[in-house]
Amino acid sequence: MYADRINALPPYLFAAIDESKARMLAKGVDVIDLGIGDPDQPTPSHIVESMCQAVRDPATHRYPSYTGMLEFRKAAARWCKETKDINIDPANQTLTLIGSKEGVAHIPLAFINPDDVVLCPDPAYPVYKIGTQFAGGEPFIMPLLEENGFLPDLDAIPADMLARAKLMFINYPNNPTSAIADRSFFEEVVEFAKDNNIIVVHDNAYSEMVYDGYQAPSFLSVDGAMDVGIELYSLSKTYNMTGWRLAFAVGNETLIRGLGKVKSNIDSGAFDAIQKAGITALTGSQQCVSDMNLIYEKRRDVLLKGLRGIGLDVKTQKATFYMWAPIPSGYDSMGFSQLLLEKAGIVATPGVGFGQYGEGYIRFALTQSVDRINEAVARMEKLRI
Ligand SMILES: *Cc1c(COP(=O)(O)O)cnc(C)c1O
Repeated sequence: MYADRINALPPYLFAAIDESKARMLAKGVDVIDLGIGDPDQPTPSHIVESMCQAVRDPATHRYPSYTGMLEFRKAAARWCKETKDINIDPANQTLTLIGSKEGVAHIPLAFINPDDVVLCPDPAYPVYKIGTQFAGGEPFIMPLLEENGFLPDLDAIPADMLARAKLMFINYPNNPTSAIADRSFFEEVVEFAKDNNIIVVHDNAYSEMVYDGYQAPSFLSVDGAMDVGIELYSLSKTYNMTGWRLAFAVGNETLIRGLGKVKSNIDSGAFDAIQKAGITALTGSQQCVSDMNLIYEKRRDVLLKGLRGIGLDVKTQKATFYMWAPIPSGYDSMGFSQLLLEKAGIVATPGVGFGQYGEGYIRFALTQSVDRINEAVARMEKLRI
């Protein structure tokens, strides 16, 4: 019945967890879900208000432009200048996306021929690999190892793979490891990309979710990056807008145009009213972003203390709302998350769900209140791991 590309999809690893969760809920257990990477707080009200106004304007009811409203692209370019100090041409170097997932999934269709290789990190957001496979490309796994700060070791990629490699995905601040990259890593990537003729796609979905004064650099802020790559920014995590589906790509004009060609033949752009709300998000006060970060920072501190208290060696992360914890010996990641769920009513994501190199870790998302996180910690203490 299904096409080969669907039959070839990896098994859905979270099925067992989903099942146990449903069973626990049916039994009336008060489940604390630290599994999903979806902000629990609402979209800031000034953005919601702007949407309400925009949706009443019949001008927004028609087909949007394929490349996105110029006003939105201008707002995106200005936001890039203000927050990342990069110069972007809104007309030619910016493209509205229906969420960055859409961009990630469509990029390989624009650049990858059958048998081209795409360098994909592991553990990672699964869409890099699946988008590659849907386009007929071959993912080559770049392991993200703790001893390398969860950065890929570019020197470890074999020459025959490099010869076939056409594109690479990177993502810092990183989901699921919460690792960050500094400018020198991006410089190394640019040089590598130029030497090997590789397109770089930097997924910067967590660019603003930062703590302790840390600022996440733009890949495009590095010399030469604009020659080799594009960067994806999303309003989802930054402005609690996951349900709205709005993001944008910026960077190399030829690459932006390539992705635009795919999109213009598949979708018809993002709803103009949503883009208008996006303009409000990008150009309005950014206080809502720092307020959210303060909330996550407090949660992080509570969970960090709790996890360390039960003997898990967790690093203090400077970005993202994930905590990537090495699991105690004697368990694999699936077994440990089953234990947390069945014995403590806590949902956390087994690392292996993000790829083979995620084994040995579990991911907690800081998407519950401090009270609920405290409750989760108290329950974990009782487990005496
Ligand atoms: C959440 C997430 C996305 C998806 O963002 P959308 O803009 O909502 O599609 C993309 N990349 C990573 C790494 C994410 O964690």
